[in-house]
Amino acid sequence: IDAIRPLIAGNWKMNGLKASTAEFGAMLNGATEVAGKADLLVCPPATLIAAFAEKACGKKVAVGAQDCHPKASGAHTGDIAAEMLVDSGATAIIVGHSERRADHGEGDALIRQKAEAAWRAGVTAIVCIGETQGQRDAGQTLDILRGQLTGSLPDGSTSANLVVAYEPVWAIGTGLTPTSRDVEQIHGFIREFLTSRFKADGAGMRILYGGSVKPSNAAELMAVKNVNGALVGGASLKAADFLAIAQGC
Ligand code: PEP
Repeated sequence: IDAIRPLIAGNWKMNGLKASTAEFGAMLNGATEVAGKADLLVCPPATLIAAFAEKACGKKVAVGAQDCHPKASGAHTGDIAAEMLVDSGATAIIVGHSERRADHGEGDALIRQKAEAAWRAGVTAIVCIGETQGQRDAGQTLDILRGQLTGSLPDGSTSANLVVAYEPVWAIGTGLTPTSRDVEQIHGFIREFLTSRFKADGAGMRILYGGSVKPSNAAELMAVKNVNGALVGGASLKAADFLAIAQGC
């Protein structure tokens, strides 16, 4: 498990205009230095995927998407199919982010279909799970995570087609992070679940930590057992921060 190559994935959320291509360019320039330590992925808004992918061609940063529709095409105004994202240059798709679960009422069954849509289009699904503050306070964290893992991960998940991102909702964008001990316990729990359901593939699957990762805490978090990289929100908007986080691997 220690041999799993880390993945540092940036989630730009609803941030970025054409002018942001320059910041992405700075990431590409610095990426060769950290490429020995981790795979790098940036998921800009869908409007920028094509421009970023063109710039990233042959470089050490991959481009991904933040969400997709489960279907390949059809009457779904405003939605974007996984095939379209891949056609634009996405090589991975985040599904089930807590902001989609909360803002759009997305549940585990839909998220599972979206992960399958990513596969249908030929790319990796990054499935997000995580408990809210209320669930944590009520001592329900492991039950919630078990339910999300059971419902959101499709049968057929492998270490190549699926990445799990553990993102405690209360740690996202708040500056709060769990202790290393808590992260170790929860990632250990997720690893046990994955190994029991997916056997050797589960043992090799990446489990990312997400929630207020920044340059100052990245090295400590990345050193925790069964933490195989990070999903980074706010700090992924700046090339210097994003690259410093990858340096921490
Ligand atoms: C996220 O939204 O995936 C995230 C981890 O955000 P932040 O790093 O800003 O907490």
